[in-house]
Amino acid sequence: MSCDLCGKKGPTKLTRIEGVAYDACESCARHGEAIKTVAPRKQFSRHNPDEQLILRNNAPKLLRDARSRSGKTQSDLAKELGVKESEWQSWESGSRSPTVALAKRIEKHLHISLLQEDVTENIGLGVGGSSGAGLTIGDLIKRK
Ligand SMILES: [Zn+2]
Repeated sequence: MSCDLCGKKGPTKLTRIEGVAYDACESCARHGEAIKTVAPRKQFSRHNPDEQLILRNNAPKLLRDARSRSGKTQSDLAKELGVKESEWQSWESGSRSPTVALAKRIEKHLHISLLQEDVTENIGLGVGGSSGAGLTIGDLIKRK
């Protein structure tokens, strides 16, 4: 690096002089105001929180209970949520799981809590040994 002001080779500092930023050597830098070059603190970047949500183990039971409380039929609820009745049935039986997005809609619709933070990362899902680790809801849905 060489000084933008006097051309001297050597270490320079980013310096603002009369509103202009220069790479200035030690002596030129004295005429200006040092510009802090500390990188702006990175915003704490959290994963998409949705990715960390999983269905509770007892989601099928929660769905059945919520439906009976609501006094609605599977067909009613499926219609209200815009899904097929067979899909709703598979959620209640536990053979399939709603996506997180759908589960959120169901939660609002029936005032229940279906999702929880994914804490299975360390304990595994208890299916298929070690290969079960890291399964997402999406993976589970694809499995028939
Ligand atoms: Zn200089």
